[in-house]
Amino acid sequence: MKGEQQNKKVKTIKVDLDKCNACRACEMACSAYHASPKYSSINPARSRIRVVMDLLNDEFVPIRSCDYSKAGCDGRRTYAINGKEYSECSFCGTICPTRDLFKEPDSGLPLKCDMCEDEKEPLCVQACPGGALIVEEIEEGIEQVKPGEMEIGMRSLIDKYGMQKVADTLARMKKKS
Ligand code: SF4
Ligand code: SF4
Repeated sequence: MKGEQQNKKVKTIKVDLDKCNACRACEMACSAYHASPKYSSINPARSRIRVVMDLLNDEFVPIRSCDYSKAGCDGRRTYAINGKEYSECSFCGTICPTRDLFKEPDSGLPLKCDMCEDEKEPLCVQACPGGALIVEEIEEGIEQVKPGEMEIGMRSLIDKYGMQKVADTLARMKKKS
């Protein structure tokens, strides 16, 4: 929030894209943890984290759901990462009316990431075998993008830095020299 320097400490999850192997254990763990009763089922469609996968180009980007929006945004740009075209929506964690992602399959209710509040460590982080998901405590309003890391609350990144910068950062991180 501009003008207010509250610097409130909040927990977030960052992802090291180079360590993600698209195993989707994070999706399974999240859906199992939030099943009712807890751990009674596994269904990635009910997960609050989803892995955007492009197997041909070896691109895997875990996206965690964030805020609910009553309206879809007007951004419909596409951009390319390593020659593959993605829509602007591909890496967005917002729960919005224009797509089914992060919605309870039966009821359509939003599935917002709650950081597994009752747990010492979020289930997706615990389940990730390669350490691609990392809990971090950040101060709101502080620059968060670092080389090799990407906050997976994509909506806030896009709001803060703009779609082009986020796309450029993703491309840079995946570029193998
Ligand atoms: S922190 Fe918890 S609720 Fe959020 S995506 Fe990970 S497992 Fe799901
Ligand atoms: S569990 Fe970790 S390595 Fe597997 S898909 Fe999720 S983020 Fe990637």
